[in-house]
Amino acid sequence: LLQDHQLHAAELERTFIAIKPDGVQRGLIAEIVSRFERKGFKLVAIKIVVPSKEFAQKHYHDLKERPFFNGLCDFLSSGPVVAMVWEGEGVIKYGRKLIGATDPQKSEPGTIRGDLAVAVGRNIIHGSDGPETAKDEIALWFRPIELVSYTSNAEKWIYEVN
Ligand code: UDP
Ligand code: MG
Repeated sequence: LLQDHQLHAAELERTFIAIKPDGVQRGLIAEIVSRFERKGFKLVAIKIVVPSKEFAQKHYHDLKERPFFNGLCDFLSSGPVVAMVWEGEGVIKYGRKLIGATDPQKSEPGTIRGDLAVAVGRNIIHGSDGPETAKDEIALWFRPIELVSYTSNAEKWIYEVN
């Protein structure tokens, strides 16, 4: 039987993923969760929240000089957002790959934005862009107690464990 301590350290890589209000309103929660789940990534936190505008500004603080910043923060705080933490080997970088390019007009078919969105300001999903932002965004959106560590029975079929 696979013990927790035998799982490789890479399983601890985590990223923050959010389904924005457009994705929620369009009924795409299950579709998006499914793409991460089928890949083999593990869901370790999930909740639905309406962020305040101040919270949205914190989340997008890196973009505060950009012309679209205000509209972006208004939009993120306009309705329910599904906030998640996904775990797995390479999940930060590969999560971005699953999501696709920022502008859905440039996202490849087969990606979430490529298949499901058209406009850059309505691109339905957010994903952390690197290890530092992943750490910061997880800490912004979740309390440590909300992150659930567990062993999935599928892990021994997803990773090369012996
Ligand atoms: N955005 C926009 N206009 C732009 C660029 C970005 O409305 O010209 C929005 C878009 O919804 C994007 C978000 O701002 O998802 C954050 O921008 P970022 O460059 O971080 O893209 P992402 O990391 O989401 O791909
Ligand atoms: Mg970004």
